[in-house]
This record gives sequence, structure tokens and C-alpha cells, in this order.
Amino acid sequence: MSRFLNHKLQDLEPYTPGEQPKGIDGLLKLNTNESPFAPSVHVRHVLNAFNKDDLRLYPDPTCNDFLTALANTFDVKQTQVTAGNGSDELLAFAFAAFCENGAAFADITYGFYKVFAQLYGVNAQKVPLKDDFSIDVSDYKDIKGTIFVANPNAPTGIALGLNDIKELLCQDENRLVVVDEAYVDFGAESAVLLLKEFDNLLVIGTFSKSRSLAGARLGYAIASQHIIEDLNKIKYSFNPYSINKLSLLIGEATLKDGDYLKSCAEKIIVARENTVRALSQLGFTFTDSSANFLFAQPPAAISAQDYYEKLRQNNILVRYFDAPRINNYVRITVGKASAMERLVEVTGQILGELQ
Ligand SMILES: *Cc1c(COP(=O)(O)O)cnc(C)c1O
Repeated sequence: MSRFLNHKLQDLEPYTPGEQPKGIDGLLKLNTNESPFAPSVHVRHVLNAFNKDDLRLYPDPTCNDFLTALANTFDVKQTQVTAGNGSDELLAFAFAAFCENGAAFADITYGFYKVFAQLYGVNAQKVPLKDDFSIDVSDYKDIKGTIFVANPNAPTGIALGLNDIKELLCQDENRLVVVDEAYVDFGAESAVLLLKEFDNLLVIGTFSKSRSLAGARLGYAIASQHIIEDLNKIKYSFNPYSINKLSLLIGEATLKDGDYLKSCAEKIIVARENTVRALSQLGFTFTDSSANFLFAQPPAAISAQDYYEKLRQNNILVRYFDAPRINNYVRITVGKASAMERLVEVTGQILGELQ
């Protein structure tokens, strides 16, 4: 730490991203919830047709063409959408803009919420999940700060029904509820429909997971026109050009390929359920995941940390969180069927060697 750092930031604990190893041949990467499927073919076409000389010019700060396509996809007005450099950027903007009365989120959820709260000096209240890691929305009824819910939640994969989201919205119409739908396409219901009824709702989504574009850094927000204006106020006070030209183009192209994205998500769901069946036979237990990952507790014969390390020795990378309540689980990204078969096979070997 230099002597120049603002003292308010001295205790800031940054987010720890999952490992992105380079050049390890044959490594099975099931640790950061990326898609195993290629982006839409339209992405390739757009990139091939792109005139490189255009990189001289700044991208469109209004993201007009991309947002037109996005608004059409979600059947909302264009004034109700904005885009960010990954959904993380929009989540950061939400913490900067809407948390004067503090923020509240589950004790076990996406790690970035805590980091953003710290970064922006927001008072954060952690609301414990129930023992089974589900959310009891009645725990939120007296909370005044902005609520952040990942739906499905991470790293548990558990989805909240729209009736529960509605309950959160009804508890206090003067309190904003931010629903982070990073994994919604793998089995949960989107809250976007509720925007017809509620103006205290902000839905945030990403192209990183079900749309196979983690490397492009593209996220979106959908809300009332006024909330979107507020987010744009922050965006234009920070970096009006946060989304580069190529990402805008490939994001727009991807939205034209809804059927392909749907078929990829369906494959993930099938692979997820097959993996649950196979690993259950080996003694694993799971939360009920509606996401593209599994939150798995190994059988008593092996700790989660040992299982994580053994998988690593076998060139399979999953995520282990050394944190209270969840340190006996691993989070396994669901990949292609063949990848999951290898995971199951190696897991069988690991358990066999213990005997
Ligand atoms: C992956 C993820 C995001 C965001 O990702 P971006 O790549 O920044 O769009 C947001 N929320 C949750 C819960 C996630 O898991």
C-alpha cells in the first residue's frame, strides 16, 4: 500500500475472481460459470465484416442499436434499458446511486455486493439465509436499504419465485429491489414482467453466462425510465464509452439468435440434472440449482477442500470458498455432457482411492 491511498480504502477487500489459467492443456475449467458453447454464429459474421479502421472512432455512448435490439427482446421501451461493461459495472452504479439508506443482501450471495458496498461507503446489512440456503422474504420486511437479490442465487443456485420477488416489492414501495438475473436463463423466471406493475424494481442481466460472451464484457439494466436515467447519469459521470464498439455489435447480433441461446441453456440444464443423478449415487448432496452450476457437498469420506484439491490434481478446476457456512461445498460449473462425464469419472476414482 502506498502512502497516497485514501484511508477510507485501506480496508477495502477486493473481489477474488476465479482463476483464469493460461495454456494448461487438457484442463477442464468448471470454475467461473462461463458457457462451454461458442457464441452465436452471428458474432463471427459481425466480427468478420467489421472494418478495423472504425476503431479510430469512439463507440456510440448511447448504445442505440444495441439497446433497440435489447428493448425489443424484452418487450420494454428503449427508455427502460441501459447497458454496462459487464453487469458488474451496472451493479456498481446501483450501489453508487441508490443506497443512501444502505443496502441489504443475503449472507451467502454474490461476493461483489459486499465489495461495492465497501467501495462506495454504503452501510450493508447481511440477512442470513435459512439453514437450507433458501431466502425467507419476510426477513426483509422492515429493511429500509436497497435490497440486492441474485436470482438464482450464487453460489447456491437456488431460485426465488416471482411471487417472492413481488412480496419484496410490495413490502415497501419506497424501497428499491435490485434483482441480479445473471443465471435466470437456466431455470428461473425473469422479474422483467413485474416492471409493468412496480417502479421500485431494477433488473440487471449479463451476456457473460447464457449468451456465451463473458470475454466481451456486456451487461444490461431494465427498469423504469427514471431509474435508467439515474444509472445513465452515473455512467456519463464515469465513462460514457464504457462499452466498446465490438461488444455493442456482437451483443446486438447475439440477440438475433434467441433459439440458439435457448438450445444451449437447455443442454446445460440436461447436463446439470444428469450430473446431479450421477454424483448423488456417489454420495454427494446438492442444493436445488436453477443455474449453470451445482453447489455440491461431497460425501463424509472427503472434505470439500480435499475434493477441490484432488480435482485440481486431475486437471479439473472447480470453485471452493473458504467461508463460513459454505466451506463444505464446492461450486461446479456445468459444462458440456462430455466434460461432466469426465468429472463424474474422476470423482469416482478419487473416492475409490480413499478406501
Ligand atoms: C457472473 C455474475 C455477474 C456478472 O457478471 P458480468 O460478467 O460482469 O456481467 C453478476 N452477478 C452474478 C450473481 C454473477 O454470478
